[in-house]
Amino acid sequence: MSNPSKSRTLLSTLCGLLITLLTAPALADGEVNIYSARKEDLIKPLLDDFSKQTGITVNLVTGKEAELLQRLQSEGINSPADLLLTSDAGRLAAAHHAGVLQTTPSKLLEKNIPAAYRDPEGYWYGLSVRARPILYAKDRVKPAELSTYEDLAASRWKGKICMRSSDSIYNQSLVAGMIVHHGEAKTETWAKGLVANFARSPKGGDRDQIKAIAAGECDLTLANTYYLGGMISSSDKTEQEAAAQVGVFWPDAKTTGVHVNVSGAGVTAHAKNRDNAVRLLEFLAGDQAQHWYASVNNEYPVNPAIPPSATLKAWGEFKADTLNVAKLGELNADAVKLMDRAGWK
Ligand code: FE
Repeated sequence: MSNPSKSRTLLSTLCGLLITLLTAPALADGEVNIYSARKEDLIKPLLDDFSKQTGITVNLVTGKEAELLQRLQSEGINSPADLLLTSDAGRLAAAHHAGVLQTTPSKLLEKNIPAAYRDPEGYWYGLSVRARPILYAKDRVKPAELSTYEDLAASRWKGKICMRSSDSIYNQSLVAGMIVHHGEAKTETWAKGLVANFARSPKGGDRDQIKAIAAGECDLTLANTYYLGGMISSSDKTEQEAAAQVGVFWPDAKTTGVHVNVSGAGVTAHAKNRDNAVRLLEFLAGDQAQHWYASVNNEYPVNPAIPPSATLKAWGEFKADTLNVAKLGELNADAVKLMDRAGWK
């Protein structure tokens, strides 16, 4: 004999179980997939923290900037990536224009990241700030002789400047910033003057320019400060010694400010784990992550509430250009053409 009250209890238990199963998060909700052009050691410990705090599994694929963008484009709707992490507003803007990102408005991101360091439409957000000041040979140049980027085109610097090539997105972004402030014609005249002052044909990365100053090949260069910071704390003695001979000068203090850029990230157009990707972005812009994320690569926190590392503090405060870095991406093609016309190899 069946007991009707027992059957009802069993039925309601089964119904409850079914409801639980139907409303339980799907497995995919428990992960987020990142394509990162930043090296694993610049991000992995932070991602582990995020996983610990949220229970969300983070899958990380690292690669070169251009490769990852191409991969996102060719994978299209089938891409497993939820978040693209890369450096330079020029590259973030290129990803946006290639259609591989989606807009993800977030009150928290808007609160923690100043407007100048994120895409106005929310396609990508800066997560760390890098500055590109003038670096000089301490034994041959007095800071009082330096003033602005514009002044680097003056004839007294003939044969004194080492420079990375115009292929470098960092220099392209810097020139894009000059176009915003001075217009194309003036910027082109400036670029021609700058090129005329080169001590050698452009070659190597930012660290190589610093080493060339130390070797006496030239007296001045433009470089992102985290390269100098990395050399100061390098285990390689020759890098340490080269860095010790080079000083940081913050140009354009009375005018437009120091050229700054960001590393950042945007949620991909076809993200299957969009909410988790936004949550990760919010985590990366938060207090704890900002401190670690910026200091591990000697960058400046994007969140102004977080102080920079001791290495960066030692170079003093500076006035940063207030231009929205998205503009640098918009003008990238114009900058590249201009550098070409100016003979910047
Ligand atoms: Fe870099």
